[in-house]
Amino acid sequence: MLIVQKYGGSSLGSADHVKNVARKIQRTVEQGHQVVVVVSAMGDNTDDLLELATKLSVNPSARELDQLLSTGETQSSALMAMTLEHFGVPAKSFSGRQAGIITSYDYGKARIEQVDPRELRNALAVGITPVVAGYQGVTRSGDVATLGRGGSDLTAIAIANALGADRCEIYSDVAGVYTADPRIIPAASPLGMLNYDEMLELSSQGAQVLQTQAVEFARGQQVPIYARSTFTDEPGTIIREGKKESVEKPPVTAIALNRHIAKVGLIGVPDAPGVAALLFQELGESGINVELIIQALSHNQLNDIAFTIEEDDVEAAEPIVQRCLEKLGGNALSIDTQVAKVSAIGSGMLGRPGVAARVFKALANGHINIQMIGTSEIKISCIIDRDDAERAMRLIHEEFHLGQSQEMIED
Ligand code: ADP
Ligand code: ASP
Ligand code: MG
Repeated sequence: MLIVQKYGGSSLGSADHVKNVARKIQRTVEQGHQVVVVVSAMGDNTDDLLELATKLSVNPSARELDQLLSTGETQSSALMAMTLEHFGVPAKSFSGRQAGIITSYDYGKARIEQVDPRELRNALAVGITPVVAGYQGVTRSGDVATLGRGGSDLTAIAIANALGADRCEIYSDVAGVYTADPRIIPAASPLGMLNYDEMLELSSQGAQVLQTQAVEFARGQQVPIYARSTFTDEPGTIIREGKKESVEKPPVTAIALNRHIAKVGLIGVPDAPGVAALLFQELGESGINVELIIQALSHNQLNDIAFTIEEDDVEAAEPIVQRCLEKLGGNALSIDTQVAKVSAIGSGMLGRPGVAARVFKALANGHINIQMIGTSEIKISCIIDRDDAERAMRLIHEEFHLGQSQEMIED
């Protein structure tokens, strides 16, 4: 088989970790498989580089930042290749450019436009294991661009697709995708299978285990993903197109938490056509993503509008919203960064009434106030106080019997 194996920073924290992963790759090669390895930067290297940059420049250019951040992966690919060679496995490191990855010009969150895997094929043909630096590619003008945080997942899936690989395996420090982040909910259980839509909601609502753009790419190209642990031999989770789903499917598959959001409120803006259009157009034009929106029932020809954005966007959003508020003659602006979003996700809730009520009731029983609600066909999200976030996750997890112990009791 031709297997793409991606190892994340959490599996490459030290020289010993690199050796451990190299042994794992060696075993796969010795079983007669061809392997293309994709590596992330070691441990927290990307965060460390980012911190260094912000110490030296208030507002570093996006091009320079990408040039810098990509070096973490460049280092680990060379280190992994030399470790494999030391173990007697012929290997060669590849940067994103050498692996033929062409990206868009959006530094820091570039899309992969094309993969030309010729050089990787040439290496494989002569028995060399390519080790590709994840998270990076080059624009058509040859500048390095990175693929967004967690972007080595995308590198692996795009390469697996371009090579027509038999399997794409994403290794991290957990045994696949769980019913909730096992670091927050120790009782969370591993999921055997998830469909792309569920995984996409989970990733975009805060489950860091797979990058959202990577799951989107996998869904678009129908690349199955095998999410597994570097440190154990458990089967992990397969993410692929859902077969005809059984009616027995539980209403909620998993819970996600996003602590990095902010709630913005405009108080007392005129209740007139064009108000929301002006506000959200200006935010959209500045690349600020708005998620949940609530407009309160109008009183005295005035409305209150509240919406959520990513916490990182607050600095950019504040002057824009302030300007809109002044233009519209509104009363006040409030920005609350002490909120979190907890989401229950599952394609089993499709066409099944009463699921939202169970989520709300679980929170009510824990005296947790819901500030905003958002839904999609397979998701119910609640904005709550950040201090309540982990408890809220646990309450919903218990309400839908997602934990390992509950499952055993039910059996
Ligand atoms: P890597 O460094 O290998 O890319 P990440 O840190 O990006 O690994 O992703 C793995 C982490 O994702 C886990 O350690 C876990 O805390 C977190 N996580 C969040 N939600 C989930 C979930 N539903 N299932 C498994 N892991 C999750
Ligand atoms: N090293 C990058 C990050 O920390 C990319 C990755 O790990 O996938 O976001
Ligand atoms: Mg990751």
